[in-house]
Amino acid sequence: MGKVYLPDSLPEVFDILSREPGAVLYAGGTDVFVKSPPGKGNDGPLVCLEKVGELTGASDLGGEVRIGACTTHREIVASRLIGEHFPLLARAARHIGAPAVRNMGTIGGNICTASPAGDTLPPLYIYDAEVELQSAKRARRLPLSSFIQGPGQTLLEGGDVLSAVYIKKDHGYTFCHFEKAGQRRAMAISIASFAFAARIGDDGRVERARCAFGSVAPTVLTMEAVDTCFAGRHVEDDVLACAAALVRAGVSPISDVRASKEYRRAVAGNLVMRLECALRGTR
Ligand SMILES: Cc1cc2nc3c(=O)[nH]c(=O)nc-3n(C[C@H](O)[C@H](O)[C@H](O)COP(=O)(O)OP(=O)(O)OC[C@H]3O[C@@H](n4cnc5c(N)ncnc54)[C@H](O)[C@@H]3O)c2cc1C
Repeated sequence: MGKVYLPDSLPEVFDILSREPGAVLYAGGTDVFVKSPPGKGNDGPLVCLEKVGELTGASDLGGEVRIGACTTHREIVASRLIGEHFPLLARAARHIGAPAVRNMGTIGGNICTASPAGDTLPPLYIYDAEVELQSAKRARRLPLSSFIQGPGQTLLEGGDVLSAVYIKKDHGYTFCHFEKAGQRRAMAISIASFAFAARIGDDGRVERARCAFGSVAPTVLTMEAVDTCFAGRHVEDDVLACAAALVRAGVSPISDVRASKEYRRAVAGNLVMRLECALRGTR
């Protein structure tokens, strides 16, 4: 195993990166060490971010919430601030792995891995989250949906650290739902996942809805046409059938060890049809 640095501030991280430009950053290590186990070809320097104070925890900035990149999934599930304003994110985080993975894995790691199966990503797309990147020279904020370019591809440049995720509070959604289909109930990477948020009026009609799908395209998939299906309507069978048909036509899944592309396509539509069960509890 190569050298491991344990900085406790961002300036220290940037200093290390200037001396060790090839160093690999990690937070929980639940993706990095699975992909390249130390001693098996990954013997370069590592920079552990878990002690960097600027990267931890969620804070209320008034109109928006800042979630440090090294905030773990367990902390997201436990956060009252996140639960109150972004319950969809808390629900998705609850579905990640098992307790050990949620204790170590972070929101920043989930984002930087940029897997279409990353469970925090569909909620973050729905909330129009922004990411903050910092390097020794500059800090910049950009929409998460542009930061993630493809499977495993992001706009991170050498020397950049993902420092935080920002989400505005004024989204106005009053109902949310997250469901993922995997090969088993826990410890399963999604075969397909579905996140839904809506503002529902007093008469039970959907005023505005957003949907996002994981594991059925190279990146998280949002479809305006599907969102529009719900607008001004009660969520009934005909609306769901119309949305599910659009989803099945719009996804572009791959076949892999977990599922065939045909199965993923069918499941994505089924997850939408199951929204009725989730909504029934609110009527
Ligand atoms: C058994 C198991 C089950 C899992 N189940 C799920 C699941 O159900 N759902 C799911 O979505 N994922 C799952 N995962 C994947 C993983 O746990 C998550 O993606 C987790 O959020 C990764 O976070 P991490 O902090 O461990 O990332 P790390 O492994 O530390 O890093 C991941 C990548 O991000 C980069 N990185 C990390 N932090 C930063 C930063 N601040 N700035 C710049 N780059 C950074 C690293 O260089 C690396 O490329 C599972 C993994 C395992 C091992």
